[in-house]
Amino acid sequence: MAVFEEAEGLYRIPVFTPFDTPQTNVYVLRGDRIGLVDTGLRHPKARDDLLGGLRSLGVRHEHVEVVVVTHAHVDHAGMACDFTGAEILIGRRDAHKVRDFPGHLRAYAAAMRRLTEPWGVPGFLADSVEDLFTDMISMGGSVPHVRELVQGGILSGLGPDLEVYELPGHTEGLVALFRAADGVLLSSDHLLAEITPNPGLYVEGTSPPRSGLADYIRSLDTLRRLPVARVLPGHGAPFGGAQERIEEIEAHHEARLEVVRKAAGRGRSVFEISAHMFPHVRAEHAFLALREVYGHVEILLEQGRLARRMEGSVEIVKAA
Ligand SMILES: [Zn+2]
Repeated sequence: MAVFEEAEGLYRIPVFTPFDTPQTNVYVLRGDRIGLVDTGLRHPKARDDLLGGLRSLGVRHEHVEVVVVTHAHVDHAGMACDFTGAEILIGRRDAHKVRDFPGHLRAYAAAMRRLTEPWGVPGFLADSVEDLFTDMISMGGSVPHVRELVQGGILSGLGPDLEVYELPGHTEGLVALFRAADGVLLSSDHLLAEITPNPGLYVEGTSPPRSGLADYIRSLDTLRRLPVARVLPGHGAPFGGAQERIEEIEAHHEARLEVVRKAAGRGRSVFEISAHMFPHVRAEHAFLALREVYGHVEILLEQGRLARRMEGSVEIVKAA
């Protein structure tokens, strides 16, 4: 395993994930107390990576007093339940997900399944969607007692103070931490060097489920005001040039909106647009593509650049 010193008292331990994304970064903060930012998922290889990394810093599992979970995705939150002696912190809008992790994944899977109908997803593919999410249940556990983080909250005792930023979009409750003392931003999956994070799908308290994409783009704007010197992301290597990266991602989505609008043409379902734009996508990635297209379709409908009609139970959108 590898450990990287990224800033004063701040170390990065990349840990295993079985997904196509690069390893999850766990950050270790050393001050009066020892804290972690994210944990990786519950898997023997991830556990070996994390505990091995901690060991090489002279830190034992039970020394960890604080675990900040940046968002409730399994590759970040999964192992938090194993730090039973630590206080676990998570953004207020993701807290319910880790309090009942299997319950959340089942609700999410069921909501995705229901969306396959208006999206026009063929039966064989629609039937596989619930398994994609329920398969993740074994990769994480519930944390009944979490403390909720809110915008503007300050975490102290873990080296220089960290300020909490709520950045909804990738999930409802994603938080980033900003260390004003040296301009370090622990950006989680909101800002990554090479990947545009997939927009979340908000399934609770909203019917039909709503894409997080519009929120995501607004949250990018929140970061623009911050004097970020260096970004420590949830996956991949740290990088500078946060403002340029923000602009790049904004331009990407702006261009995508037009691609989706054109692909809708004289009338297509979300599935047809997605299949047109990503013809060779593998089944397990099809839902990522669908979620992304859905996000752009929602924004285009809102802007009046697409119009919709129902054909049976399938929603058809066309360029307005
Ligand atoms: Zn992630």
